[in-house]
Amino acid sequence: MPESIRCEEVVEHLLAFLDGEVEVGRRESIEQHLEECRSCCSRADFEVALRQKVREVALKRPSMKLRRKIRQLIDQF
Ligand SMILES: [Zn+2]
Repeated sequence: MPESIRCEEVVEHLLAFLDGEVEVGRRESIEQHLEECRSCCSRADFEVALRQKVREVALKRPSMKLRRKIRQLIDQF
């Protein structure tokens, strides 16, 4: 039975948890907490969605149109 942890601890380790970088005991505590705590659960969902978005953007190279737009912005200064 994993010991219960507080929201602060979940938030603190959330990113490592999502990366699979927390030890098993803590992982189980966080998983259990996420099942019971609505606010941490939605926070975790948000982080996951955010990461997917960032990954998508990182994979996609900026289009020519976007690059031209950036160029224009730079030229204005
Ligand atoms: Zn919580």
